[in-house]
Amino acid sequence: MAASPRRTSRSPSPLSSSPPTTAEQPPSARLEEILNSENCIEELSSASEDDLYEDMGTATLEEQANITYLEKVRIPIHDSLTTETSEAQNETLEIILPYLEGNPNDLPLNIFGIPELQRKKHIAFLQQALGDYPGAFALLDASRPWLVYWSLQGLSAMGYDISEYQDRVIHTFSLVQHPSGGYGGGFGQLPHLAATYAAVLSIIMAGGTAAYESIDREKMWHFLGEMKQPSGGFTMAAQGEEDIRGAYCALTVLSLLHIPLELPPSAPARAHGLTTFTDNLGPWISACQSFDGGMSAAPGNEAHGAYAFCALGCLSIMGPPKQTLNAHLDMSALIHWLSARQCSPEGGYNGRTNKLVDGCYSHWVGGCWPIVEAAASTPNLWNRAALTRYILSAAQFKKGGLIDKPGKRADAYHTCYNLAGLSATQHTYTYEETMLEELGGSELDAPYYWKVHGLHGGERVWGDGDVVDEVHPIFVVPFRAVHDCRRYFEDMKSFDRGIARTD
Ligand SMILES: [Zn+2]
Repeated sequence: MAASPRRTSRSPSPLSSSPPTTAEQPPSARLEEILNSENCIEELSSASEDDLYEDMGTATLEEQANITYLEKVRIPIHDSLTTETSEAQNETLEIILPYLEGNPNDLPLNIFGIPELQRKKHIAFLQQALGDYPGAFALLDASRPWLVYWSLQGLSAMGYDISEYQDRVIHTFSLVQHPSGGYGGGFGQLPHLAATYAAVLSIIMAGGTAAYESIDREKMWHFLGEMKQPSGGFTMAAQGEEDIRGAYCALTVLSLLHIPLELPPSAPARAHGLTTFTDNLGPWISACQSFDGGMSAAPGNEAHGAYAFCALGCLSIMGPPKQTLNAHLDMSALIHWLSARQCSPEGGYNGRTNKLVDGCYSHWVGGCWPIVEAAASTPNLWNRAALTRYILSAAQFKKGGLIDKPGKRADAYHTCYNLAGLSATQHTYTYEETMLEELGGSELDAPYYWKVHGLHGGERVWGDGDVVDEVHPIFVVPFRAVHDCRRYFEDMKSFDRGIARTD
């Protein structure tokens, strides 16, 4: 077969014409700001990739196959109205398509002609992310628990033994645990639910008695009680915003640490007649479903992929997803909205209507599908192979770490969530009738009924060397970390709740 000319980033691709969007604003925005500053350090990721695919010659057979595939999945209807967002989308496609069609980074290819997972480089990148940071990174001090969580989870997903970090994790989080309960983002900072979530997940990944015992569960109970609102939702911090992240983070901590479901006596919500952490919560999450079917941070806000995962995760902790999702959400509208987030021909997900594809939504939206499929009892609602193509072809940074999209720098956040999304494409999870680990039978035990059914048997574009480990679909950490933690705290004598019990 005659080779055809390869497209470059400079020449318009025939595929580059589809809908809108503008720039992103992920939780890593501040990291990006720092990395783009003059003081950035080259070691954590390196320079622009724009100059990597100038003179590309002719297409290989693999590239021709990829080009044929991409032309097949291109959205056929093109709106000719030019807007700021349609221009941004077209510019983005110009950047991304060479990576989907060819191999500008010159990475080794798997048997499907797709770049292999650069495991060693990604491991090295995350090891570095757990090291020391230069002064310019002081801005990220309040994200300390996140940097640890993203890095440890990314390493775990790639099969790396993180036990060497156990002592450091215990030490770090013993210093950011607040005297009144919960965890701050950095030393001496006030407790915050996002920091608390990331800290607890990091600690349970480190595992072991010393790690578990480093958590003051009774004070955590009181901290969470302060966050519970009369509406049913949770604030992220005292006097802070009330949004769906708070609900997911709070229930994650309550479930994993086996903390009593009843509110502490001092919880302000008790004055409004609430007695448990889940009172009014289901209806409050219902109110977060927006008119277009997606999930928003709080009632009335715009739907967003990360909030969708938080909402579904929270409901899946409250009970079996088949019950809780169907009871509180319009599932047809939700499935429609989630499906519309998968970009074509890019294959990856965007986070909102009219926005650009971004590797972190490989998890925030891709990770919704195992939960939705369990609730709908319908498998294969999404295109796993298309997402795999995006992650392996366009979201791997040549020197290590994973990214939002070509041209962006690698960071621990995008590395963690691209890998979680890749895991979701490769493994099949089901919600079982019976618990497999002899756990629970008590409060908030729904997350312990999930089972891994091995590698997905459908269309496959990843090779054996590209497989990442299973990730618990609700907590986004290894299954073993989840089960060991819950078992430890179920076996523990409960603390004195200071409440007269009737059961
Ligand atoms: Zn992102």
